[in-house]
Amino acid sequence: MKWYHGLEPIVEENVRLADRTWYRLGGAARYFCTPASLTEVCEIVKRAQDAQLPLKVLGGGANVLVRDEGFDGIVMQLGKDDFGHVTIDHNKVRADSAVDLPDLVRRTVNEGLAGLERMAGIPGTVGGAVRMNAGGRYGEIGDMVAAATVIAADGSLHEWDRSHMQFRYRGSNFVDVIVIDVTFELSFANGDELRDHYREIWEYKKSTQPFTRNNAGCMFKNPVGHYAGQLIDRAGLKGESCGGATVCEQHANFIVTDPDTRTNDILTLVDRIQSRVRDRYGVDLELEVDVW
Ligand SMILES: Cc1cc2nc3c(=O)[nH]c(=O)nc-3n(C[C@H](O)[C@H](O)[C@H](O)COP(=O)(O)OP(=O)(O)OC[C@H]3O[C@@H](n4cnc5c(N)ncnc54)[C@H](O)[C@@H]3O)c2cc1C
Repeated sequence: MKWYHGLEPIVEENVRLADRTWYRLGGAARYFCTPASLTEVCEIVKRAQDAQLPLKVLGGGANVLVRDEGFDGIVMQLGKDDFGHVTIDHNKVRADSAVDLPDLVRRTVNEGLAGLERMAGIPGTVGGAVRMNAGGRYGEIGDMVAAATVIAADGSLHEWDRSHMQFRYRGSNFVDVIVIDVTFELSFANGDELRDHYREIWEYKKSTQPFTRNNAGCMFKNPVGHYAGQLIDRAGLKGESCGGATVCEQHANFIVTDPDTRTNDILTLVDRIQSRVRDRYGVDLELEVDVW
């Protein structure tokens, strides 16, 4: 009997992941699940554990690069219909994990609630952003998280308050759990000033990042005391390419792609960048993008 017996309506086999990530690359997931309730999420997690199948959660796919050979396990994606609700109570905003982050940012700005405008221009979902502690020069999303509902690797449900959470630069302890919903604590602000601040951040992002070619944001984390983009640029790698993958001229920490690119082209370029920067500056560049 198959591990997903009884769950056939929400499990498919050999599903192309390229259509679901910002890079639009890579092979298929052996199993792809779209649970419609908490009970189904818990059930899939438990069955994955029993069947000893690796399980990954896909948010908006803005920070994931899927290998050409695909992922030999289960990929779960929480849909917007069932996990896409937002409730606002005073300065507390509770958002399900599949809520689109840019939509939530716009909504809170329009409600005169300050905090999330600092995430302007960051694509993806609430779940992915909290897992990654997304952010940049204007702040990190973890600073605003007050509580979260998560499912642990054994399928049990937990309500986490702030004391359970650890956020660090582009990382968190939401790594072995599935984020179900997140409560943000924001502050009241003057509507016009807030909208101006939001527009300013959004304009900055548009002027510094490529939005016309496929990418997954910054490829590498900034090493302590350095900017990855600056090191790559100084190492003379702007414009360097492999197959259809190129180090972006506008921002050297982005690898942009042409339609005929393969994931292997990006990974070869990544190796080349890492070796050149290590040789020149003795610095190891760690991937920010999650390679599946
Ligand atoms: C043009 C562009 C600009 C970007 N700019 C920035 C930026 O300024 N700052 C920044 O930090 N990032 C940036 N990124 C990267 C990306 O937007 C963020 O990392 C974003 O938070 C990813 O969210 P996602 O929903 O797409 O997650 P995904 O890419 O789907 O997943 C990312 C990781 O989170 C995990 N995950 C997803 N959902 C859940 C969940 N519900 N529970 C547990 N784990 C989960 C995945 O397993 C994976 O490990 C940029 C990307 C692009 C394409």
